[in-house]
Amino acid sequence: MSAPQGECPSCKTANAYTSVICNLCGARLPWADAVTAKAAASSTPKVSAPSMKKAFLSTGSPSIWARCLIYVGLAWVAYFLLFFDTSVQVGGFGRINNIGLISQRQSFIMVGIGIVIVGVMIYFFTKPKTD
Ligand SMILES: [Zn+2]
Repeated sequence: MSAPQGECPSCKTANAYTSVICNLCGARLPWADAVTAKAAASSTPKVSAPSMKKAFLSTGSPSIWARCLIYVGLAWVAYFLLFFDTSVQVGGFGRINNIGLISQRQSFIMVGIGIVIVGVMIYFFTKPKTD
C-alpha cells in the first residue's frame, strides 16, 4: 500500500490514483480523466518538438519552396517571352531575327517551364494532408 488509493465506484475495490481503470472490475475510475490529462501533459513536450519539426519539413517548408520555384519559373518564362531580344543589328540591314538567339530563347523557356513543373509537382506532393 505504497501509493495513495481510492475506491472503485462500482465494486469498492481500492485502486491507486495513478490507475485509469479498476484492477478488479475494469470500470473507469473517477480520477481517470485527471490521470490521462496528466499523462498527456507530461508526454507533450517530448513528442511536440520532433513532430512540429517533421510537420514543418513535410508541409510548410517545401510548399514555400514549391511556390518560390513556380514564381521563379513563371518570371523566367515571362522574361524570355517578353524581354529577351532575339534580333540583332546587322550592318545596314537593320535588325533581323537571329536564329541562334531564337533557339537559345526556346531552350531557356523550356528550362523555365521545367522549373514551374518541378515547383507544381513539389507543391502537390508536399500538400498538407487534410485527414
Ligand atoms: Zn471496480
